Amino acid sequence: MKTGLKKNDVLLIIIILAVAGSAYWLHEKIGTKGANCITVKVNGRIEGVYSLGEDQEIEINGGTNHLVIKNGRADMTEADCPDKLCVNQKAVSKNRESIICLPNKVIVEVDSSENSEFDAVSN
Ligand SMILES: [Zn+2]
Repeated sequence: MKTGLKKNDVLLIIIILAVAGSAYWLHEKIGTKGANCITVKVNGRIEGVYSLGEDQEIEINGGTNHLVIKNGRADMTEADCPDKLCVNQKAVSKNRESIICLPNKVIVEVDSSENSEFDAVSN
């Protein structure tokens, strides 16, 4: 059989379309809800990814920095760094906003996209 689609091929196409469609739908749904994620990096390495839609408290870098997520915003509430610039920074909630603690090499960044292509490149 050289020409024409086989039954299995048609089925496969339907499955691919269904998966792509639901992924798109899911992305739209999450996007409109504004449930972004924050990526916590220590020394350039990703230590964790957390949802802003969930109230939680995070110990970063073994406890040098304390991050609180509340009402869809992430705020650095405590840190053992000498300058305390990260603690004084405003809470972040929008895509690409970040809190940086230079002495501890901690970066907290809001990221609404779920892939980590950017991180792979930057390393
Ligand atoms: Zn700091």
